[in-house]
Amino acid sequence: MHPTTFAELGLSNKVLAAIEAAGYPSPTPIQAQAIPIAVTGRDVLGIAQTGTGKTASFVLPMITRLEAGRARARMPRSLILAPTRELAAQVAQSFDKYGVNHKLTVALLIGGVSMDDQVRKLDRGVDVLIATPGRLLDHFSRGRVMLMGVEILVIDEADRMLDMGFIPDIEKICKLLPPRRQTLFFSATMPAEITRLVDQFLKDPVRIEVARPATTAKTITQSFKFCPTIDDREKRAILRDLLRELDVKNAIIFCNRKRDVAILLKSLLKHGFSAGAIHGDLDQSTRMATLDAFREGRIQLLAASDVAARGLDIPDVSHVFNYDVPWQADDYVHRIGRTGRAGKQGNSVTIVTPDDIKALTAITKLTDDQPLWLGEAPDEATIADGMKRRGRGRRGASSSDRGGRDARRGSGERRPEQRGRGRGQRSPREADASAGTNAETTLASQRPQPEERVRAPHNDEPRDSQRDERREGRRKSGRGERDTSRPAQQPSRARQDAASHKDKEQAAPRKSEPRERDPMPFGLDENVPAFLRRPVRIAGR
Ligand code: AMP
Repeated sequence: MHPTTFAELGLSNKVLAAIEAAGYPSPTPIQAQAIPIAVTGRDVLGIAQTGTGKTASFVLPMITRLEAGRARARMPRSLILAPTRELAAQVAQSFDKYGVNHKLTVALLIGGVSMDDQVRKLDRGVDVLIATPGRLLDHFSRGRVMLMGVEILVIDEADRMLDMGFIPDIEKICKLLPPRRQTLFFSATMPAEITRLVDQFLKDPVRIEVARPATTAKTITQSFKFCPTIDDREKRAILRDLLRELDVKNAIIFCNRKRDVAILLKSLLKHGFSAGAIHGDLDQSTRMATLDAFREGRIQLLAASDVAARGLDIPDVSHVFNYDVPWQADDYVHRIGRTGRAGKQGNSVTIVTPDDIKALTAITKLTDDQPLWLGEAPDEATIADGMKRRGRGRRGASSSDRGGRDARRGSGERRPEQRGRGRGQRSPREADASAGTNAETTLASQRPQPEERVRAPHNDEPRDSQRDERREGRRKSGRGERDTSRPAQQPSRARQDAASHKDKEQAAPRKSEPRERDPMPFGLDENVPAFLRRPVRIAGR
C-alpha cells in the first residue's frame, strides 16, 4: 500500500507548503513511490511517462535534500539533464513553483538563448543546474562549470536522450561526476541501451514502474477520421471541419515533418484560426513565446513536430490532432499523451489516409484498442490496398526528417524500412518537394496576421537558431528535423455538412463491439486486424 498523502512522503515542511499552494490534493503513483526513496538519498529508476507527475517526483525530494548545505562557485550541487530545451526550461519552472519557500539558485544551460546571466549565476554558485547534455559539455570544456560538487544527478526522459543520440554525452558527463552521488533516472521505456546505462551508472536503484510504457491514458477518447485521398488540401479541409465541429478548447496538431508544420500554420491562419507553431528550426525565443501564448490561451491551436513537442507540459489541452499518422506507433502514444493529463478528460483525433493503414494497424496493436471512426471508415478494399502500400510517410521522408528517433542511425541501428537507402539519400519526390517551396513560418500569431508576419527565410541562409540546433545536434546524424515536403497548396474543398460532435457523442457508442471476422479480399485475411474489417460508424456522419 502506497502513501496517499504528501505528508507521509518525508518531504520538508517548506516543500509541503509549496505543494499545498500548488493545489495538489494527493501524490500521483510515481510521486507516492519515488519520493520516500529519493528523500533518503537512494538511487531511483523511475519508469514513467510525462503526464504522470514525474517532474515533481524528483524536484520535491531534491528541494528537501538541498535544504542542508550551500552552493560553491562554479560547482553546482545538483544536475538535471533533459533532452530538449523546452523540457529543461519546464523543469526550471517547477523549481519556481515547488521552491517558492526556498532560496535555491537555479541555472539553466540550454541552446538558443544568451547564457551570460546563467554563467554569472554559475560563477556565484548554484544549487541546481539544469542543462541539455551538449550545452553542458560545451560549458564544461570551457571551464565555466565544474562537476565534482554534484550530489544529486537527475536524468529525465532517458529514452528520449537515446533517440536524440545523447547517450555518449551522458556517459561522458556521468564519468565527470563524483561516484558518491545520488542518481534519479527517468525513462518512459527501457530499451537495451538504457538498461545498460542504468547498470553502469546507478547504484542499487529502487525500480519504480507506474505505467506500462506504451499504454495510453484511460482519460483520452481516441477517434480516427478517414480521409479518402492523400491530397494535403483535402486533409487540411478535413482538419478545419473537425476544428469547427468538435468542442475544441485548445489543441496541439502534430505533423510528421517540420515543413508541413509551417505550411499547416499558414493555412490555419489564412482560414481565420488562432494558431502558432513550434518545430526544430524556430529559434528558442520564438518557441518559448509561442508556448507561453498557447499556455496562456492567447492562441488556441499549436501546430507541432514531434521533436519540438516531446515532453512539453501544457496543462488543459482539450484535443490532440494527428494531422499525419506518426510513422512510429510509440510516437502516437507520446503525442496523445499531451491531452487527458493528470486525470482530466482529453480527446485525440487522427486523420487517416489510405497510405496510413499500415501505420494505423501498428498503433492499434500497441494501444490494444479498437478505433472509433468519426464518420465513414475505410472500406475493406481500401484497407486491403492500404496494407499493401509502403505508406507515404516512410517512402516520402528520409529518416532524418524526424530528427529524434532516427538519430539512432548514428549508432548503426536502422529500422527495416530504412535499409537499402543510403544516409542522406532522398527520393525523387523529396528532392522535388524541397526544391518546390520555401514556405516557412517563424512567427506565432494570435489571429490571422498581415502577410509580413509570416516570414519565408531562404533555406540556404541558416539562422542562428538553425546553427544552434545543429551544434546541439551534430554529434549524431539526424538529430535536427530536415525540411522535406510538398509545396504549399491552397485549400479548396467545400466543407461537409455535419451534426455537432456532441450530438454524435450522444447518438453513438464510444467504442466498437467485437465483431465477426469477414473474409478479406486479396488473401490478406491474417494480416488485417479485426477492427479494420468491419469499421465502426458514428451515427449522423
Ligand atoms: P509531469 O508528468 O511532471 O509532466 O506532470 C504533469 C502535470 O501534472 C503537471 O502539469 C503538474 O503540474 C501536474 N501534477 C503533478 N503532480 C500532481 C499532483 N500530485 N496532483 C495534480 N497534478 C499534479
